[in-house]
Amino acid sequence: MDYEPINKIPVEKMKVRPNLTREAELVAGFDWVSLEKELQLEESVNYNLAYAAIDRHLKNQPDKVAMIWEGKSGEQEKYSFKDLALLTNKFANVLLGLGVKKGDRIFIFMARLPELYVAFFGGLKIGAVVGPLFSAFGPDPVRDRLADSGASLFITTPDLKARVEHIFKELPALKNIIIVNKNNRHPGSLGKDEISYETAMEKASPQLGKMASGKENHSIIHYTSGTTGKPKGAVHAHNALIQHYATGKWALDLHEDDIYWCTADPGWVTGTSYGMSAPWTNGVTQLVYEGGYKASMWYSLIEKYRVTVWYTAPTAIRMLMKAGEKIPAEHDLSTLRHICSVGEPLNPEAVVWGQRVFNQAIHDNWWQTETGAILIANYAFMSVRPGSMGRPTPGITPEIVDDTFNELPPGQEGNLAVRPGWPAMFRTYWNNKELYESRFKNGWYITGDRAKKDKDGYFWFIGRTDDVINTAGHLVGPFEVESALLEHPAVAEAGVIGKPDPLAMEVVKAFVALKDGFTPSDEIRRELMQFCRKKLAAASAPREIEFIDKLPKTRSGKIMRRLLKAKELGLPTGDTSTLEDD
Ligand code: AMP
Repeated sequence: MDYEPINKIPVEKMKVRPNLTREAELVAGFDWVSLEKELQLEESVNYNLAYAAIDRHLKNQPDKVAMIWEGKSGEQEKYSFKDLALLTNKFANVLLGLGVKKGDRIFIFMARLPELYVAFFGGLKIGAVVGPLFSAFGPDPVRDRLADSGASLFITTPDLKARVEHIFKELPALKNIIIVNKNNRHPGSLGKDEISYETAMEKASPQLGKMASGKENHSIIHYTSGTTGKPKGAVHAHNALIQHYATGKWALDLHEDDIYWCTADPGWVTGTSYGMSAPWTNGVTQLVYEGGYKASMWYSLIEKYRVTVWYTAPTAIRMLMKAGEKIPAEHDLSTLRHICSVGEPLNPEAVVWGQRVFNQAIHDNWWQTETGAILIANYAFMSVRPGSMGRPTPGITPEIVDDTFNELPPGQEGNLAVRPGWPAMFRTYWNNKELYESRFKNGWYITGDRAKKDKDGYFWFIGRTDDVINTAGHLVGPFEVESALLEHPAVAEAGVIGKPDPLAMEVVKAFVALKDGFTPSDEIRRELMQFCRKKLAAASAPREIEFIDKLPKTRSGKIMRRLLKAKELGLPTGDTSTLEDD
């Protein structure tokens, strides 16, 4: 079904920024260097995300609330830009005292607590490469990331430490473990040689000498999944902040008096680029909520904090849709001015639902871990084409290219590619230059997505070109799940695919062949699911397991997931000439 374009902001709520009323004006007025000047950034003086997001505001609005934090038991804390500047200085000094140097990798494994934000920006201030980890991870993904990057420092809370501490002995580069336990919120004691965050912060000076500076200095590392091998660390540079600042204005329509809420966790790129960098480089107050999804709670938060701009994800929106329209009707959501979504395709029905429930369309936008910032968006000031990801943001040239990497005309499906060179683009995959270089072909960065462009320049998502599974907006590499399954003594072979799901878009489904002596049963199925949940994260563990005698493989022994998917969907198997003989 075709949907009519929807005009987003009700006219009476529209905030018109002088040259942001039309896309043409936006594009004409744009250049990256003038944005650096706007933020008063100088290469060897203060070019650091922590400066641009926090310390820069000490001059004009030190007391403005930067973060309103609500804990999952209803606790509330507020932090001004000045509070954050002092706390991050202190944490930077704690790190320096421990001998952490520019370029060292430090990882934060924590729920969305204020200390996560302090540790993150404190680390950036001294030039460390900071890796925030999703707090639902089991030990395997944590170990893989720390081992691959040679991390020297790990910051966590006692409850999460208990989940992963047996991996520490496998990490020879790991020198320091800092434990955050404000108000003894978590049961558990400090281990031998572990450092108490609270004690170290009490002793640390709030004065910091010179911040590390340089637009090309590495800043953040986020691991992302591919079809083969373990997740790879996409490394970003401080320069990305320019684009977060700009897309915060263009795509999220952030204004100084906004109350902004990004529901993404900083363990994923949306939670850092748009849950830290974009709002604070724009000097905007943001809400950070420790808890997870619950429809009534989410609506209450919007009402309680008078949220004006909201950035969330399609799975969450579909869950809200499922929860019905009675709950939102019981809340005053009239402060909401602009709603955006990212991570998976946003169904047109969700855009139309948004129009009905929030009196405005939900604005889809597209980007990925590697691109570092929003590259394609439905702008606040244009009408939304439900189902479309929108149009390129200024300075970005996406195209659809064929399999030999030549441009295709509008209307044709192909590979979504982007001309390289934007500020937020990843600079490498950690220790994997070859893989990084393989992402560039014929002068294009190849995104791994299939899409098409219409004659008006709107991009429409079609699917992925690889076997990576997108479950509730989180990418899961089938290889990671297969590897976990193979560690179970009953498993001979495993092949993992994404099975379509109405809520999460895809869920992880595993096909498993058992070793001789084991018989398929519900008990083994449950045991395997539990086994993976413990090792990985609930979202990456198989939701369904089907036992089969033998997996389809190529003659060279590679699992043909394509055939497993065809079997699942009841589709023709296509070309099977490379299939191994029985
Ligand atoms: P990640 O690197 O984990 O942020 O995932 C990026 C991938 O998520 C993209 O390559 C797409 O496959 C998918 N994705 C992100 N945003 C959208 C969107 N608006 N529409 C469709 N797919 C999306």
